Amino acid sequence: MELNQLTAHELLEKLKAQQTTPEAILDSLYARIQKIEPQVKAYVRGQACLPSTSSQADLPSVGDRHACPLRGLPITIKDNICTEGLPTECCSKILQGFRPPYDATVIDKLKKSGAVIFPLKANMDEFAFGSSTENSYFGPTRNPWNLDYVPGGSSGGSAAAVASDEAIWALGSDTGGSIRQPASFCGVVGLKPTYGRVSRFGLIAFASSLDQIGPITKDVQDAAILTGLISGYDPGDSTSVNQDVPDYTKSLTGDIKNLKIGIPKEYFIAGMDEEVKTIIQEAVNKLKDLGALANSVSLPHTEYAVPVYYIIATAEASSNLARFDGVQYGYRASSDNLIQMYKLTRAQGFGQEAKRRIILGTFVLSHGYYDAYYLRALKVRTLIKQDFDKVFGEFDCIVAPTSPTSAFKIGERAQDPLSMYLSDIYTISANLAGIPAISIPCGFTKKGLPVGLQIMAKPFNEAMLFRVAHTFEQNTDWHKFKTKL
Ligand code: GLN
Repeated sequence: MELNQLTAHELLEKLKAQQTTPEAILDSLYARIQKIEPQVKAYVRGQACLPSTSSQADLPSVGDRHACPLRGLPITIKDNICTEGLPTECCSKILQGFRPPYDATVIDKLKKSGAVIFPLKANMDEFAFGSSTENSYFGPTRNPWNLDYVPGGSSGGSAAAVASDEAIWALGSDTGGSIRQPASFCGVVGLKPTYGRVSRFGLIAFASSLDQIGPITKDVQDAAILTGLISGYDPGDSTSVNQDVPDYTKSLTGDIKNLKIGIPKEYFIAGMDEEVKTIIQEAVNKLKDLGALANSVSLPHTEYAVPVYYIIATAEASSNLARFDGVQYGYRASSDNLIQMYKLTRAQGFGQEAKRRIILGTFVLSHGYYDAYYLRALKVRTLIKQDFDKVFGEFDCIVAPTSPTSAFKIGERAQDPLSMYLSDIYTISANLAGIPAISIPCGFTKKGLPVGLQIMAKPFNEAMLFRVAHTFEQNTDWHKFKTKL
């Protein structure tokens, strides 16, 4: 196996034993990118930004490498997480040329742990609006399992890069499924942490009450390591929670005997792909074989999750995006009239989906509609959260599909926003409730496209997710398959 094909924990072993170097790992990634990036397009702004050899890369000194847990290991970052001096444009024209003067807290933590921030950023839907990465200003990323299909979104670049070994591991962000759904479409592991577990400082906001940064990795052990490194209280984010970060690798015990697993009946509905349904049922049977006790549970307000999410998320987005007016950041249209400059900048700088969300969000917050839509959505959000509280009173975790289908074809839903929104049905409840959720590979369709299994737990119980996910993974081979690229 080439170095770029290994997991982070395998590479960390090699670095520790001095059997490889960060330079050699970077060179193997560069070679892979040269070969397949023209087809996959997981990264943005082109290979021009990529040094031709690792000798030009900004690597920690040899002394520092051995003092830090990550020892110079590279990590790929989604284009909405601020990286000092490196372009961070949310794959939007309106942020063209924006180079943040500071690092997001997660980047700061990773650098202090000895990580090398990969010089190319990962593709995404503009401002993380989407489920397919087709809304990127830079054009779509392709699914490495079949280039005619989407990689999912909005963190499609991060997921495709990890799945095709163009990255060792990556960070994404998840507001309504943007880590888990692309992880499931690309056959890799993706975790949305509990709201408040990971600092959002330096994550360009989409919907501030829902956004979380999380890992996209080749296996569960890597996800446990990375989550531990990025978690924790940050005075720079008033919604981050001051709670100890456990050593998540200690939860990889391989033991799920007598754990109580809830299977929500509302997640197995008409419209769900039959093949996906069978694969999920087989995965649940596997968990039972491994000693878990599975029972049907009810999350009765599930049917309201999509409408509630698309009210709250667009309301918050319309407010967060108000700052992009051509004055402080990125793109500015030319005009000698100030108001005209604002209008032209926003008309030319935002793509279609961003405009749709700004208009929807402004509408639900406007006088007369605020009470009818926004306030009611907040109340139903509480009911959705209470559904979970009730189930977690009796069960250790909930197991469900990540998405009702496997990856769809590029272009198939691009002109039909409603069908795109409906594909988020299984992921957005976890964001509305603030609970942690992971997606892990659990099978392939007959067409050879991956399917993801979603596991949810109560707030701050990421350890439970790692325990169940790792036990499943170690007793199946789904994570070992490689794309044919
Ligand atoms: N697909 C969802 C949306 O378009 C979720 C996106 C996300 O999690 N960033 O809003």
